Amino acid sequence: MIPSVLPTYNRAPLSFVKGEGSWMIEADGRRFLDLGAGIAVNALGHANPVLVKALTEQAEKIWHVSNLYQIPQQQELADRLVENSFADTVFFTNSGTEACELAVKMARKYWHDKDQPEKVEIIGFEGAFHGRSSAGIAAAGGEKLTRGFGPLLPGFLHLPWGDLEALAAAIGDRTAAVIVEPIQGEGGIRAMADADLRALSEICRDRGVLLILDEVQCGVGRTGKLFAHEWAGISPDIMMVAKGIGGGFPLGAVLASEEAASGMVAGSHGSTYGGNPLGCAVGNAVIGVVSAPEFLAEVNRKAGLMRQKLEGLVAAYPQVFEEVRGSGLMLGLKCRAANGDVVAAGYGQEIATVPAADNVVRLLPPLTITDDEITQAVTRLGNAAAQLAAEQG
Ligand code: PLP
Repeated sequence: MIPSVLPTYNRAPLSFVKGEGSWMIEADGRRFLDLGAGIAVNALGHANPVLVKALTEQAEKIWHVSNLYQIPQQQELADRLVENSFADTVFFTNSGTEACELAVKMARKYWHDKDQPEKVEIIGFEGAFHGRSSAGIAAAGGEKLTRGFGPLLPGFLHLPWGDLEALAAAIGDRTAAVIVEPIQGEGGIRAMADADLRALSEICRDRGVLLILDEVQCGVGRTGKLFAHEWAGISPDIMMVAKGIGGGFPLGAVLASEEAASGMVAGSHGSTYGGNPLGCAVGNAVIGVVSAPEFLAEVNRKAGLMRQKLEGLVAAYPQVFEEVRGSGLMLGLKCRAANGDVVAAGYGQEIATVPAADNVVRLLPPLTITDDEITQAVTRLGNAAAQLAAEQG
């Protein structure tokens, strides 16, 4: 008999009933160190007092009003994002995949309104993940995401990860945009080198196609800049954001330049919940904390510490781990053992991590993780690795 919850997830037999900072407390009382943060969502940890205050204060005033009306919290969050990024304008969604829907629509509408309606094709890269909506799976293109869900939304092309020669060759008269994650998350913490991202951005500019960055997982302070592409010194035309921006409240956004957004006018897009007062009150609190230079400096310092300790871990357990990948606090352990076994052994040591493609274990702690918690995390991962190494003999 089908379970009452549609069985689309492989769930661990763990049930967390409370969260405190970097910790999740299981129903049986065990305290797990959370190195997944809801897959890069709980950017400020669990039950952060700043976010609890923002949420509860807003909850006592007004939760939801329609986008038929002015929403000051939404205006404030849009202003903050514009002030702190390349963007001139912002649309709010509830998730990353909805941000993908709009990014695709915006790019196509741009060319439509420029009297070049033949430009509909969007070029992406293998290993990508842009969400589970019809545009999201078509944009990513992977067999695991798309099999059985055809006919897929047409107009997407996929190139080998980071292959800029292939990109230059693939851009043609029908190309509307290129979509890329600066660091692939689900794809296995595969970062595009800054120089490559710059070259990719130049190709887009020179060939007159829009650049859509998917910063749903790598954005909002995760790499030690507010947005990951800032390391490369580039500006996209359109950017998708979600996850960390709500700190656990379902919130996403599309940021765009005035030019790229020029086709979007009243009636061309909408969302019932997107940008409602409750979500934006939390989003404002998150961005208020994360955009502070001192906060980002701390993320960078802690990222350096964590990376150094993880390099030691890889050196100590070469039969289990191959290398450390990623940037900032978006890190991955490329494994020699099966990544699922590493995650499971971690549960035994009361540490939560997240598997990704390419046999990688993702480490995406709250950005507020302390030095002591980083030390504890690496110790627990070491204990898990020792156990796996012993089992391997
Ligand atoms: N884009 C990227 C890079 C992601 O990592 C994700 C989610 O993991 C998404 C899009 C989809 O976001 P959501 O699950 O909120 O729809």
